Amino acid sequence: MNWILRNTRVQGYAEIVDIAIDAGKIAAVATNLPDSGDQEWDLAGRVLLPGLVDCHTHLDKAYTGAVNHSGTLLEAIDVWRQTKLTRGRKDLLSAARRALEQATLHGVTALRTHVDAELASDLVAVEALLSLREETRHQIDLQIVVLGSASQSAEFATTMRTALDMGADCIGGAPAITPDPLADLDAIFALAERTGKPIDLHIDETEDPHMLTLAALAERTLAHGLQGQVTAGHCCSLAFVDEPTAGKVIDAVAAAQIHIVTLPLCNLVLMGRGHRPVPRGVTRVKELLAAGVTVSAASDNVQDPFNPFGSHDLLHIAQLTAATAHMTGIDELSQCLDMVTTHPARLFGHSGRIAPGKVADLVVLDTQTPLEAVTAPPLRLATFKRGKLVVKTEVMREFVIRDP
Ligand SMILES: [Zn+2]
Repeated sequence: MNWILRNTRVQGYAEIVDIAIDAGKIAAVATNLPDSGDQEWDLAGRVLLPGLVDCHTHLDKAYTGAVNHSGTLLEAIDVWRQTKLTRGRKDLLSAARRALEQATLHGVTALRTHVDAELASDLVAVEALLSLREETRHQIDLQIVVLGSASQSAEFATTMRTALDMGADCIGGAPAITPDPLADLDAIFALAERTGKPIDLHIDETEDPHMLTLAALAERTLAHGLQGQVTAGHCCSLAFVDEPTAGKVIDAVAAAQIHIVTLPLCNLVLMGRGHRPVPRGVTRVKELLAAGVTVSAASDNVQDPFNPFGSHDLLHIAQLTAATAHMTGIDELSQCLDMVTTHPARLFGHSGRIAPGKVADLVVLDTQTPLEAVTAPPLRLATFKRGKLVVKTEVMREFVIRDP
């Protein structure tokens, strides 16, 4: 065995167990394993989670500062379109490496990033992230979604096709902010037919209940037979429609097996500007889960014109999801953890579970209380990728004054 992790608490096991890791996989989970390992670590009752999966981020924008005076999505887009014209490959790679380092420190072992693919000059960022995907393969599984709009111009369409041909993993877009959302959806599905790649869109990032492209997305997903191949992030306007409409759309989303991603931090920052009372802007997480829809939670933007906050700490996002979606019961808190582990792992073809035969992507938490993963996100002490220890954090704590 390469590793034995002794005395750890794992979801699904009533007792404290030992974990044996060999050849990148979990070889055994049992109490008092007799095996010995090349390396052993006594976790002294600490919690072990499957590697966290951050399925919606923007590495090309991360750490570009927060110059957005109105705080709105539209100003963020305008500021970003200017910013990216002056940002070279070197700066982009340096910031993206920092983002991945933060993600790994926080226990993330798989991450999906969107990257702009509109102007021909955006292909520099696409190429840079493709090279980063190779460079960091030992550390993290990285998927790249091309965020463009093939319906808007010949240049945009060519850029998206080229980015996909270069090796990007998924077709992205944000139909609701294009001049003709339905035509944009049709162009996205045409690209899916042409390339066979899955779809991952920014959907209805607006408070306008009349902008409901999620319904059209579900319709087209079924018509093209792409059930299980489509992901929809945000889906904010679903929270602003009346109950019968919401029910119908959620049923259609469930039938089309669309994977929904909620992004509570950015929605809280960007949505509801100018509204009184201020709405939360997050989608209907509870209702979607109750209808059997797979829902994940993710970071979205970090320290850029869209959002000044964040550090790719996915347990913080799980906590925000619980708070904003009012999922505070014990089972609901556990579901919030699923939204950053088992649910998004499906997009990477993993189970996201700790069990014999599964990939050994693991994170050690500095707590003995499993629920605290969501209620009080603890320090991450180590991250394992395919059975290899990628990062370890050691802490020294001392109460200097015990009896003042
Ligand atoms: Zn996004």
